[in-house]
Amino acid sequence: MKKKVLVTGGTGYIGSHTVVELMNAGFTPIIVDNLSNSNISVLDGIKKITGIEPVFENIDCKDYIALDRFFEKYQGIEAIINFAASKAVGESVEKPLLYYRNNLMSLVNLLELMPKHGIDNIVFSSSCTVYGQPDVLPVTEQSPIKPATSPYGSTKQMSETIIADTVYAYSNLKAILLRYFNPIGAHPSGEIGELPNGIPNNLLPYVTQTACGLREKLRIFGDDYNTEDGSCIRDFINVVDLAKAHVVAVKRMLENKSEKSVEIFNLGTGRGVSVFELVSAFEKATGVKVPFEVAPRRDGDIEKVWADTSYANEVLGWKAQETLEDTLRSAWNWEQKLMSRDGNS
Ligand code: UDP
Repeated sequence: MKKKVLVTGGTGYIGSHTVVELMNAGFTPIIVDNLSNSNISVLDGIKKITGIEPVFENIDCKDYIALDRFFEKYQGIEAIINFAASKAVGESVEKPLLYYRNNLMSLVNLLELMPKHGIDNIVFSSSCTVYGQPDVLPVTEQSPIKPATSPYGSTKQMSETIIADTVYAYSNLKAILLRYFNPIGAHPSGEIGELPNGIPNNLLPYVTQTACGLREKLRIFGDDYNTEDGSCIRDFINVVDLAKAHVVAVKRMLENKSEKSVEIFNLGTGRGVSVFELVSAFEKATGVKVPFEVAPRRDGDIEKVWADTSYANEVLGWKAQETLEDTLRSAWNWEQKLMSRDGNS
């Protein structure tokens, strides 16, 4: 019998790649998503890659009663991976209550329903945003949690606390909190990838949209930071590598290998790459020029952050494998597929 894993937000960017990796590893993922920031066509992409029709329920995790019914219908779920959340930093500043409602209510509903339905394991999508600007780099899981700089960041910090408190209160529960650095790229098949809603906020989707002429120019936010070339530094992690870490985390919990009831892992490559470096690596990997200009700093940006991955490498037994060049090519491949799809529709 294949083990069932609920993937909330499973049609989203990281969620969809994780569904594919769960299927590849012999699990039966069950997707719950309200399609608020994703497209139903993702299900076709997943099927093309795996040959398996994904199980999908259009449910909003804020709806306790609908979720309760869902768990009645799908008995025997062994673990939950909770991606369902809003993730745009700027939007969260404008609409804080939307973020608190979406991200926290969904989580609280899931946690309340887990004991009721006999589910013990949850993997949570957290973020390196919880560290703010770390004093020491690379950043380890022990680094202090800094005051959040946006409601989005607050929801990630609060969610981690809510999970820890709940696990403490219910002795059967276990959680793994995965702190992502900067996920980029797409599935190598080009069947699934990031689908930004409107003008992209994140760097790489803006780069690929500029490269294909959808945007005139990339704006590089700040060249006067205290870094070698003056631009910010991030740890860009391939989305398939990231997805695989979720499978490892689920197996770890199901095989009772967790050393603590709440474990935290950084998911990054351990390598800091500046914004300028990323753009020139993209140009080199794809042979396509990206017109850009330097613009003022963006409010709330962290100067530099990259992961110490030794704990994830040694204890979780996971390591990022893909090269930056292949990852950038996968993003470009996906962008070109999107262009030809949109052009044909
Ligand atoms: N960035 C940029 N131009 C853009 C988008 C992002 O220069 O159009 C920079 C941004 O200022 C930051 C880095 O790229 O230094 C990564 O930003 P992103 O929004 O992708 O991720 P974040 O680290 O902010 O979550």
